[in-house]
Amino acid sequence: MHELGIVFYIIDDAKKAATDNGLTSVKSVTLTLGEVSGVVPELLEDAWTWACKREPMMEGCELVVEPLAAVTHCGGCGADYPTVAHGRTCPHCGSDDTYLLRGREVVLSQIEAY
Ligand SMILES: [Zn+2]
Repeated sequence: MHELGIVFYIIDDAKKAATDNGLTSVKSVTLTLGEVSGVVPELLEDAWTWACKREPMMEGCELVVEPLAAVTHCGGCGADYPTVAHGRTCPHCGSDDTYLLRGREVVLSQIEAY
């Protein structure tokens, strides 16, 4: 399960950050989640709840998900456009010489701890 792997990775990072700062309990973790990252937020929440119960430092820790809109750049006309609405074909010039600027990120952006 993809989401569970991500959750373990986030928890490891959060625990390390808390330990490095002499903290014993993580209160909340904020995650920036790209629109086309392939991660399903509902599954992520389920995996989060399950995994945090197994980690004393993470017990009751809240997961805050900040969605990041996906944007594609067109090499044909230089425009940026929303990826989800238009896919790989530029809505301005019809070119398929395009690449994803952002939207695949799964980034731990903030940790709050005691
Ligand atoms: Zn274009």
